[in-house]
Amino acid sequence: MAPWDYPDFDEHEGVHFFRDTASGLSAIIAIHSTHLGSAAGGCRYWTYARSDDAITDALRLSRGMSYKNAMAGLPMGGGKAVILADPTGAKTHALLAAFGRSVESLGGRYVTAEDVGISDADMVEVAKQTSHVSGLPVAGGAAGGDPGPFTAHGIYLGVRAAVRHALRRDDMNGVHVAIQGVGSVGGGLARLLARDGAKLTLADVNVDRAKALAAELGGEAVPADSILSVEADVISPCALGAILTAESIAALRAPVVAGGANNQLATPEDGGRIHARGITYAPDYVINAGGIINVGLEYLGHGDRAEVEKRIAEIPGRLDTIWQESASTGEPAAIVADRMAQKLIGRG
Ligand code: NAD
Repeated sequence: MAPWDYPDFDEHEGVHFFRDTASGLSAIIAIHSTHLGSAAGGCRYWTYARSDDAITDALRLSRGMSYKNAMAGLPMGGGKAVILADPTGAKTHALLAAFGRSVESLGGRYVTAEDVGISDADMVEVAKQTSHVSGLPVAGGAAGGDPGPFTAHGIYLGVRAAVRHALRRDDMNGVHVAIQGVGSVGGGLARLLARDGAKLTLADVNVDRAKALAAELGGEAVPADSILSVEADVISPCALGAILTAESIAALRAPVVAGGANNQLATPEDGGRIHARGITYAPDYVINAGGIINVGLEYLGHGDRAEVEKRIAEIPGRLDTIWQESASTGEPAAIVADRMAQKLIGRG
């Protein structure tokens, strides 16, 4: 099937397929839009059951990056890479080098960075082949480096904004937050919330990881398949996408959903379902922009860490604008945010 026959095809400017037999690389780079600049978005290393799933992921994630970068005020378009991990193979230097050459072949139309399964050390390998890389280790007060902590910080500020909006509370002391996935983003968020005295319920398919963090921070660990229906003040999805479905939304027992995972809504209709339940939803690509703000400014050579923090601090205000418009028009927050983003990328 051609990329444009997929339901998630959205007038993407290009979908590029790369294979390097020697290293075992199979990768897809989807460029959704370069209207605002080079298409920026991380590289995901993941085992997909079918190649179709990888193409769908690249299409959805790259569109999300166009929206995310536009809403974050970055002069960058949206793209995403996925490397189809072979469960019997390894993420070797040769494979990362082949990926770097693939990025280089696009001549700067796509700029890569870390995503799930890719570390800053991996990006160092990629950078040996191409300059169109961000998320590289930096020293001192420079912008850049692992985007995870910056994403977590933006989500923390967004969760606090959602709690102010929905619960009329200014502090997080005793506010119950249930986090799905405690990796780089969810784990960082948990630590920031623990500092404020929030009550934490944590879950991860890596059960030991959730248990260890719960023990360290004084929270509770629950099985991964029960986290979305925990009775809490905030559900924070910080694992993978498409977890907000008709079924899971019906089972939610929290007034707020605000988390870092990309593409949380399984279908556009799910934004309407969550709204119809009166739940405050933080559109994922708005609340989780902290990491791309950090690596975007690194790539562009604009500003330092203080500038990154200043721009991340604008995330709550952006969410408030979306919720206010949603309240005045009666439309789901997801629809309001999409319309704002589409206008910014010249598709409104
Ligand atoms: P990560 O790999 O560090 O952590 C993800 C965690 O989720 C892992 O601990 C994994 O075991 C767990 N997990 C996977 N499936 C799960 C499930 N079904 N239930 C519970 N736990 C599950 O990845 P990350 O960097 O923390 O990213 C998390 C999410 O945030 C992803 O959707 C990613 O695309 C998104 N995101 C990340 C960044 C960033 O800067 N890292 C930026 C924007 C968005």
